[in-house]
Amino acid sequence: MSDCLFCAIAAGDIPSDRVHEDDDVVAFRDINPQAPTHILVIPRKHIGSAAELTPAQDGLWARLLHVAQQLAESEQLDERGYRLVTSVGVDGGQTVHHLHLHLLGGRALTWPPG
Ligand code: 5GP
Ligand code: ZN
Repeated sequence: MSDCLFCAIAAGDIPSDRVHEDDDVVAFRDINPQAPTHILVIPRKHIGSAAELTPAQDGLWARLLHVAQQLAESEQLDERGYRLVTSVGVDGGQTVHHLHLHLLGGRALTWPPG
């Protein structure tokens, strides 16, 4: 999508602090981090949110999870733990309408998230 911020970041048209990229998935540090580690893991392909995933994209969803898992290890979050979040729609607090997983860690996170 031409007017999508995360499509532009995935394409490299807008700079980001990338920590992973492959044919299907890109990950970069959040511009407004909410924890010592705050990484966004996105598909290169534009998908509006988790609500738009189809069964044919099961493999892509699994790839996002596996990249997040690998980054949690490389960020040394795997021992203490971390949180994976994906926001959907207005009540979910979604502000960028391109599917993304937030990988948050490096401090004890509270619940409920607010
Ligand atoms: P959401 O609010 O949709 O769950 O998450 C969107 C996230 O994207 C927010 O945490 C926000 O800080 C992050 N974000 C917004 N614009 C940019 C940007 O231009 N670059 C980066 N790296 N992160 C961004
Ligand atoms: Zn997009």
